[in-house]
Amino acid sequence: MLEKVKQLLDESKRVVCIMGPEAMIECGGIDLWAPDNLFRIEKTYGKSPEEMLSAGEITTRKVYFYDFYKKEVIKNLPKPGPAYEAIRTLQDAGIIHEVISFNIYGLEYHSNIHNVIELAGSVYVNYCPVCKKLYPVDYVQQSKGVPLCEECKAPIRPNIRLHSEKVQNNLYTQASLACKNADMILVLGMTLSGNKIRYCTGHYEGDRLVVVHKEPHYTDKYADYALNMPVTDVMTYLANE
Ligand SMILES: [Zn+2]
Repeated sequence: MLEKVKQLLDESKRVVCIMGPEAMIECGGIDLWAPDNLFRIEKTYGKSPEEMLSAGEITTRKVYFYDFYKKEVIKNLPKPGPAYEAIRTLQDAGIIHEVISFNIYGLEYHSNIHNVIELAGSVYVNYCPVCKKLYPVDYVQQSKGVPLCEECKAPIRPNIRLHSEKVQNNLYTQASLACKNADMILVLGMTLSGNKIRYCTGHYEGDRLVVVHKEPHYTDKYADYALNMPVTDVMTYLANE
């Protein structure tokens, strides 16, 4: 099936990639939702990762939010691996057009991939809600306790979408439009379950919807091709001459 997907890719001119958590984990990122991490987090913080990374937590329990955020989310930042190099190669060749990301680690940005829609934001962008001054991720990493704005001393925040925060409709509209105009979609490192992914791919009318993730899932039947393999293996194969 991988060979068939490569053949279809070679015939495509406007491919959209959608990046999910497995692509990020393959680059050394932490999977907060992996069973042992879930267990450890519940035990250490008394809450689930969703609850720790929520609008409520950053609003009312900033000290706890940043303690968790610095230790669990931005301590070891994943670095783009061969899958991202492959995407850039295919983008430079004019095959991949847009990349939509559900991850928060700027892996596309650090791979010089263009036309990226970051649906969940990026840990690399931090801002002061009062004066809008921007801060890099190391400013947050190196801060003691709650990171404060140098100008107005207000607590700054990462530009990521926290649980129970509203989605940014304009970004989802862009993502949905990119998928609608695509001749092929590669969903990399996530399943087709959930409203967010369906909102993106829902208007795609082609017959080249490919999903790549490790474990078989009942939603694989909604894809035209499902590859239960690591994203890195698939992308390095697809980018090979
Ligand atoms: Zn400020």
